[in-house]
Amino acid sequence: AAKDEGKNRFMIFETRMHEQLLSRLDQEARLREAVHRGELRLYLQPVAGVPDGRMYGAEALVRWQDPQRGLQQPGSFIPLAEETGMIIEIDRWILREACRMIRQWQDLNPRTAPAFVSVNLSAAHLEQPDLTQQVEVALAETGLSPHCLVLELTETVLMRDVAVTSARLEELRRIGVKIAIDDFGTGYSSLGYLRDIPVDVLKIDRSFINGLVGNGRQQELVSAVIQLGHTLGLRVVAEGVEESDQLALLTVMGCKFAQGYYLGRPEPAATLYERLNDRALTA
Ligand code: C2E
Ligand code: MG
Ligand code: MG
Ligand code: MG
Repeated sequence: AAKDEGKNRFMIFETRMHEQLLSRLDQEARLREAVHRGELRLYLQPVAGVPDGRMYGAEALVRWQDPQRGLQQPGSFIPLAEETGMIIEIDRWILREACRMIRQWQDLNPRTAPAFVSVNLSAAHLEQPDLTQQVEVALAETGLSPHCLVLELTETVLMRDVAVTSARLEELRRIGVKIAIDDFGTGYSSLGYLRDIPVDVLKIDRSFINGLVGNGRQQELVSAVIQLGHTLGLRVVAEGVEESDQLALLTVMGCKFAQGYYLGRPEPAATLYERLNDRALTA
């Protein structure tokens, strides 16, 4: 009986694995079509000045309008896209769309337009030998100034091969594009990147902002990171600001830029535009 039970359990396990595999293959196939079917959406989240709260720039964040499951957050499809290499196409689409949108906004309403747009890049993308050309093409085709584009890379991405990464980032900076370290502080050797990798912007991970209020030790740490960034001539952005008390502390610490639900949630690019302007966007 014990043996049968074991066998049964194995069969249940096997069935479940089979189902999971099928659903993965299915999702992979649908994600592959998503770009071509026009199911990706460009969301923007404001990067605000501190303490005025005014929008200085915006971060481009992808969403997938899956006809079967509805609006998907990046966490539910970026890992699969990274494993399969589809992330390159997704990132390329977001890059173009973000450049196009911000350029159009700058043309129509320069007074309300974000001065820069930040786009996330995955590890696979950084490894593409023609990354700089891809970026140049996106800028040339949309007419956005390179100085208005920031590319965000996480520490884990930067960590892969410091020599290759540095060379590629130098190339990008030479054409005028800015580089940001995303989720700063969550990697293994944060100080090492600051020493070895050419960057312009440092984004303090939201785990350091979360719980800032009432935690003196964490406040000292964040304050020191802000000073360090400024000493190195970097623009420092605090991520994940959800409350006014956090913003008040960051203001005292001399932080100049912040991003978070308290300052503005990610929303469809066109909605953000329409909220801040009275003239409609052209298609
Ligand atoms: P990220 O680049 O660090 O982006 C910030 C994430 O934090 C976004 O999640 C944003 O919605 C969320 N967030 C912003 N403010 C707050 C806040 O106050 N509280 C909390 N709890 N969360 C906040 P999202 O849009 O779900 O994206 C998650 C991650 O997926 C991004 O983290 C980025 O690493 C990745 N991602 C998003 N879009 C793209 C893309 O187009 N390409 C690539 N390669 N990765 C992307
Ligand atoms: Mg989200
Ligand atoms: Mg980011
Ligand atoms: Mg981040």
